[in-house]
Amino acid sequence: MNITSKLPDVGTTIFAIMSKLANEHGAINLSQGFPNYESSPKLKNLVSHFVDKGHNQYAPMPGVQPLRAAIAKKIQHCYDIAVDPDTEITITAGATQALFTAITAFVKKGDEVIIIEPAYDSYAPSIELCGGIVVPYGLEAPDFKINPADFAKLITENTRMIIINTPHNPTGSILKADDMKMLEALTSGTDILVLSDEVYEHLIYDGEKHQTALLFPELKKRTLLTYSFGKTFHNTGWKMGYCVAPPMLTKEFRKVHQFNVFSVNHPIQLAIAEFLADPEEYLQLPDFFQRKRDFFLGKMKDTRFKPVPCRGTYFQLFDYSEISNKKDTEFAKWLTIEKGVASIPVSVFYSDRKDEKVIRFCFAKTEEMLAAAADKLLLV
Ligand code: PMP
Ligand code: GLN
Repeated sequence: MNITSKLPDVGTTIFAIMSKLANEHGAINLSQGFPNYESSPKLKNLVSHFVDKGHNQYAPMPGVQPLRAAIAKKIQHCYDIAVDPDTEITITAGATQALFTAITAFVKKGDEVIIIEPAYDSYAPSIELCGGIVVPYGLEAPDFKINPADFAKLITENTRMIIINTPHNPTGSILKADDMKMLEALTSGTDILVLSDEVYEHLIYDGEKHQTALLFPELKKRTLLTYSFGKTFHNTGWKMGYCVAPPMLTKEFRKVHQFNVFSVNHPIQLAIAEFLADPEEYLQLPDFFQRKRDFFLGKMKDTRFKPVPCRGTYFQLFDYSEISNKKDTEFAKWLTIEKGVASIPVSVFYSDRKDEKVIRFCFAKTEEMLAAAADKLLLV
């Protein structure tokens, strides 16, 4: 049989590769981004409660109303912005499905989509499956900042969408108000859409405020935003998220969503709706994760790994150029197999596989696990 791959250059995602390698070699897994501790007992009990009460058939296509209403309330509370739960919020199977659906709903053959690299690895294949053309803008270590003049040069009459991600995986950098205003000025008066991946909205440190695209009126009109409850409530295995977008964009988004999944996990939607009633559940997250970041950095101080500033997300980059000349993919494998700590090599997030000799560690782990990993890294 002759099969023509629609994604000839795509292999298995790095997250699956590194987690498998960590398991095979019994290494401490700081690679794939997921917590090694439990989600709140209150939330787990709510899920059991709604399963027991029999909410086990299809949820409404856009998501249950109480959850959409609770999300609108949360947005009002966090950013003082009104969003209509009926026409602007759709519940998805994690942010990955929200991203895929948003791209599929709007990107046509030949459309150009600007992504900011190093970029989360689902963006480019999703664009390519729609016949879109990936136009990468490369950030550079150690600041990973956008240069407005260089960025503006990428916009052409074929630009359909710009994908941004703040706080940014894998670098831990954040977009500031000036970056968002630059984007707003660049896209105003055009038909360019923005896809703003804000799954780490609550994981932001040192008193910085998350600059959501919702805060910039001209940007808000053209932006689809994606979020992940897995990141916010420590249960990545539940694959729950949502998309916020103006009514015109949500209408198109739902046309694809209804045939992509129709609707997502019903009892968990009801549980999260109730859990969101207490804002403390998400307001305490910056402190919770900043303590983890600082604990890990403290333990890593005497190693030969040099930290890159982390302002958000639960990822910490380290430069290992003083330790080895190996390519980062080789170094990460070696570190897993020989030294017992798994990480993610950052070059895989660049389309040209640019190797800056930095690797990413996930610090959404217990202090015991972070300390044990640092002890091993001290010997490298
Ligand atoms: N975007 C970014 C930047 C991510 O790091 C992740 C991983 N959680 C996702 C999207 C996907 O989120 P989810 O697990 O909810 O699909
Ligand atoms: N977002 C997670 C990370 O960056 C992993 C998600 C996945 O495994 N696809 O590590």
